[in-house]
Amino acid sequence: MSIVKDVVKAGAKIPKKAVESGLEIAGMVSSRIDGHLIKRLLELGVDLSTRAGVKSALTLVGKDTTFADDVFIELKNNLNREGFRKTKYNERALFLPQCLRNAEKCKGKMTDAGWVCAECGNCQIYPIKKEAEKLGYRVYVVPGGSMVIKIVKNNGFKAAAGVGCRFELCEAAEKLGSTKIWVQGVPLLRDGCKDTEVDVNRVMGMIQQKE
Ligand code: SF4
Repeated sequence: MSIVKDVVKAGAKIPKKAVESGLEIAGMVSSRIDGHLIKRLLELGVDLSTRAGVKSALTLVGKDTTFADDVFIELKNNLNREGFRKTKYNERALFLPQCLRNAEKCKGKMTDAGWVCAECGNCQIYPIKKEAEKLGYRVYVVPGGSMVIKIVKNNGFKAAAGVGCRFELCEAAEKLGSTKIWVQGVPLLRDGCKDTEVDVNRVMGMIQQKE
């Protein structure tokens, strides 16, 4: 109960939707971190709406903060899932990071809206792009999160799916959190500035989901 007291003393606020999703979230993150802890934090009203809030909560209760970004991404995915699924495919955008390109063999060209993939098939972007475009998505291969925010706002998308390093995903989710845009994200399996890697099946699952 000391954890409970500490958290209550911290005076955090409770996001209503987070409480409603608490059980499901706890299940989703339980492989990475103590799901019961997350559930309890949510029920107690700890503000988990920002990455910093998640880190503070974990620190507060003496838990390892290594997976704070993963927890934050899963929370955001969960809270946005229903709205994302209800959004038509042609009202969604998919953002892929330029670091997924095959740096040596890429035939793409950089433009104001990111890289235009020439579909040479030398990286994981190719199959993901093909499937997303078949569904109706607009696909962007971007150098960073700031371009994501600009493109989403300028094109009136109602939902945005993204692949990226944990830092970029968290930052984009935080910035888009104050808008009505539904977000979903899949973190890279291997971070880095080039020749990174993602679980393609997981990305396919993210973009295909619908009501
Ligand atoms: S598939 Fe597209 S993004 Fe990937 S290496 Fe080829 S041109 Fe570049």
